[in-house]
Amino acid sequence: MTAYETTNRFLRKAFAVLGMDERYETLLITPSREVRVELVITKDDGSIGNYIGYRVQHDDSRGPFKGGLRYHPEVEVDEVRSLASLMTWKTAVIGVPFGGAKGGIQVDPRQLSKGELERLTRRFVDQIHDVIGPSTDIPAPDVNTNAEVMGWFFDQYTRHHGFHPGVVTGKPVSLHGSLGRGAATGRGCMLAIREVLKHEGKGLAGTTFVIQGYGNVGSWAARLLHGQGAKILAVSDVNGGIFNGDGLDIVAIDAHVAKTGTVVGAAGAEIISNEDLLIAECDVLMPAALGHVLTADNAPHIRARYILEGANGPCTAEADELLEARGVVCVPDIYANAGGVTVSYFEWVQNIQCFRWDEDKVNAELEQHMVAAHKLLRETMERYGISMRTAAFVRAIEAVKEATDLRGLQ
Ligand code: NAD
Repeated sequence: MTAYETTNRFLRKAFAVLGMDERYETLLITPSREVRVELVITKDDGSIGNYIGYRVQHDDSRGPFKGGLRYHPEVEVDEVRSLASLMTWKTAVIGVPFGGAKGGIQVDPRQLSKGELERLTRRFVDQIHDVIGPSTDIPAPDVNTNAEVMGWFFDQYTRHHGFHPGVVTGKPVSLHGSLGRGAATGRGCMLAIREVLKHEGKGLAGTTFVIQGYGNVGSWAARLLHGQGAKILAVSDVNGGIFNGDGLDIVAIDAHVAKTGTVVGAAGAEIISNEDLLIAECDVLMPAALGHVLTADNAPHIRARYILEGANGPCTAEADELLEARGVVCVPDIYANAGGVTVSYFEWVQNIQCFRWDEDKVNAELEQHMVAAHKLLRETMERYGISMRTAAFVRAIEAVKEATDLRGLQ
């Protein structure tokens, strides 16, 4: 089953709970616009590089399209479509006035120099600048893109349309970015699992975590959870993983990553493969890398009690059903990792107001959004007797449908 079919299967479960008219199903599932562009750049050695870029705009009934940009060799339209749809439901779950979109370039950024990456990013903006904008569609960082890439993106957009910092979020703080945006997705994940545990009379202190992916989301979650007294037993990146049953020293790992670019080889830990890491014994397993890593094959062997979806779409539909049947609680991506888009919203608001919030205000507002969304999800779970994932889709569909109806169908 493809990524887009997986998302639609989750949606259809929620449509059934709501007894949704079929006409709305098509309307709410189908993306509004899909753009595919050819990106040609001159490489450092004088040769020509050709890359394919995508931007899928899924739904904008609740506000401008919003969603990240991914640079990865496996980027293809089906997955971008799925990720764009997830953004529509995520912005609705967390209650920020945006729709959903996603984009990406099919490229292995490790094969490009920094100059080539900058030229590729600027070329992408040249090709899509007419269909994005601060009140139309606002990109943000995702896998293998960061504040620096967003800075190039902003600068290139200004060459076409003048000064509009709100065209992209996740920018460097010194280039109209928001304080707290770097940590926001990891912080949101920490707050989401804190609320879930609190509901069951538990706390973060002493809770054990295993985290796949040590990029923006995984590393910030590790740092913040560690700061709350949680034990991080294992972390990994594309090169492999490390494990210590007594808990890893996150400060030492950060220093090792800063020096070597990978978690592998950090002192005081054993090596563990990414496959074994997913089935390691822990309270909370947090996938924070790519999609479809939890499958029908490994779901029966997962030993965690909770799955905290830092990544987008980490569970296949089959894995989701197997885990639910085994009583494993999935904190779904469209709630768990919504902290990033929430602070992106705050960045956009600050850009529009030409005003800077201090970091405490950003973090306090983020916490308020995560706590409020958790409360609404609980109410929906209890009202219908459904999982947190289906409850999240139910709430999101209700909000998007209401906006769609109010705007009027032609
Ligand atoms: P990133 O590029 O900063 O980090 C990705 C991490 O995953 C890196 O450590 C990388 O080495 C690792 N990785 C890549 N391939 C892997 C593999 N095959 N096995 C194990 N590890 C692998 O990306 P990010 O921004 O942290 O995004 C991670 C996930 O979180 C993605 O699914 C993304 O869509 C989602 N997400 C990101 C944000 C955000 O604000 N950045 C917001 C919401 C959701």
